[in-house]
Amino acid sequence: MALIACSECSKAISDKAASCPHCGAPVEPRIQLKGFKKVFSEENLDRLAKNADDRAARGGAGCFRFVVLIVLIVLVAALFL
Ligand SMILES: [Zn+2]
Repeated sequence: MALIACSECSKAISDKAASCPHCGAPVEPRIQLKGFKKVFSEENLDRLAKNADDRAARGGAGCFRFVVLIVLIVLVAALFL
């Protein structure tokens, strides 16, 4: 069991609770989304893009960066559609 902050009153509540015991606000089922956002956070995407840049700079496959970019765009689009 983990404690999360209520989106309404910001008090610590259980992530298993259906609603906040303090203010009654429903607990949003976004625990699973958290993992997705962690993996595909902007920071990570930046890092991936930078890795691709580094490889291209080191004389690696020139099209690798392009392919990574396309894959990232598709992933991001899939997440937000
Ligand atoms: Zn609350």
